[in-house]
Amino acid sequence: MHINDAVFLEDLCPKFRLRQWRKSIHRFTGKSCIYCGKPSESIDHVLPRSQGGLSTTENCVPACLSCNGDKSDENALYWYRRQKFYDPRRAMAIRAWLEGDLRLALRLLQWANPDFKTNYKNYDKDESKFKAA
Ligand SMILES: [Zn+2]
Repeated sequence: MHINDAVFLEDLCPKFRLRQWRKSIHRFTGKSCIYCGKPSESIDHVLPRSQGGLSTTENCVPACLSCNGDKSDENALYWYRRQKFYDPRRAMAIRAWLEGDLRLALRLLQWANPDFKTNYKNYDKDESKFKAA
């Protein structure tokens, strides 16, 4: 397939693009829930759609079904603070994610969980730059 065909296909099929986008969100955290660290099976809107939250990368985080379902229509930061697994580093990561600073968010998640591995290569490459800053 020609590269222009791929772009064209995405334009023709919003569903295809949506699937790619969802995959990339999960890939950021290596398929782990941003709230509790369990395998992420869904995409959660930090600011719920009912409160005007948009389906943008900044507002959408990988979440397990349990967190996503339990949180429901609440603002994620308020909801998260009440959870038993609350970790201030993860809360900071969620805030960084919301601000579009995914690199910082991933660093904070790594700090919260040393086993955490991100599969997002570009951010690994920038790591040295980030440490120096
Ligand atoms: Zn979870």
